[in-house]
Amino acid sequence: MKYLFGPVPSRRLGHSLGIDLIPFKTCTYDCIYCELGRTTHLKDKPAAYMSAKEIKAELDTFFANHHPPVDFITLGGSGEPTLNANLAQIVEIVKNLNKAPLAVLTNGSLLWREEIVNALLKADVVLPSLDTVFIKTWKKINRPHPLLKLETIINGLKGFRRKYKGQIWLEILFVRGVNDTEVEIEALHRVLEEISPEKIQLNTVVRPPAERGVEPLTKKDLEEIKEKLGPKAEIVVDFKRPIEERAELLNLREEIIALLSRRPCVLEDIVHALGAHINTVIKMMDGLQKENLVDAYLHNGKRYYLIRKGER
Ligand code: SF4
Repeated sequence: MKYLFGPVPSRRLGHSLGIDLIPFKTCTYDCIYCELGRTTHLKDKPAAYMSAKEIKAELDTFFANHHPPVDFITLGGSGEPTLNANLAQIVEIVKNLNKAPLAVLTNGSLLWREEIVNALLKADVVLPSLDTVFIKTWKKINRPHPLLKLETIINGLKGFRRKYKGQIWLEILFVRGVNDTEVEIEALHRVLEEISPEKIQLNTVVRPPAERGVEPLTKKDLEEIKEKLGPKAEIVVDFKRPIEERAELLNLREEIIALLSRRPCVLEDIVHALGAHINTVIKMMDGLQKENLVDAYLHNGKRYYLIRKGER
């Protein structure tokens, strides 16, 4: 599978079958806390990326075979899914399949664009983010594409609420010392009352962020914010999960090193041999090259990885 991943256990969505609609790190934002690293393709408008036909073929294969339970089919992945200009067709395909409710994970920055609003009206749950209502903080935490405007985005979220009949679960990710002050939270609260999501989901930095020095809030800090934001607010951070994930990643790292000690491999070989998600492998290869443990070279137009001589 190139575009489908999971089902992965998700605290917010149960067993979530993910669909990655855009090339790795294609986003309207370059958040300082992004667990996928720096944004390499900063965009402000949709383009034709993965086609609806390709995604339909993978969904058909997945559901034609015996598969684990799926609570949600989720548009998300390694960037901003609403940047895919085929979004409306993809939504249509998932809804026509009628296998599980459709959730859309979005940073909410394009919910003022009519074609995106119309496409998402058919989703069962839309999970946008809004980390701040102040331009200075927004530029600091989300590092948006220069052509985007926070006011347009907030008005877009309000407009979407008026049109959309499904559930909106709005996420706020808090970074210590950036968007966690009294002033920030009070101003966000006022705007959230107007957007009126069904749930306000509080998160913080638990996985390794894109930038150094980006610190999480404690559970106690989040509990205090939850009180301030009222009964719709809930904490969705799994403080234990990153420790388990770190152990899994350490195993994966050792397995990649062992595999590349035996023979050079392209990315797809590693993904298939170890059954890992392509985004995780891309990140790991990047890290291993920075540590000078792995070299890459081009052969017949393909990028091969191998262990650097003398390392094993
Ligand atoms: S919006 Fe999401 S994918 Fe884009 S940079 Fe921020 S955290 Fe990463």
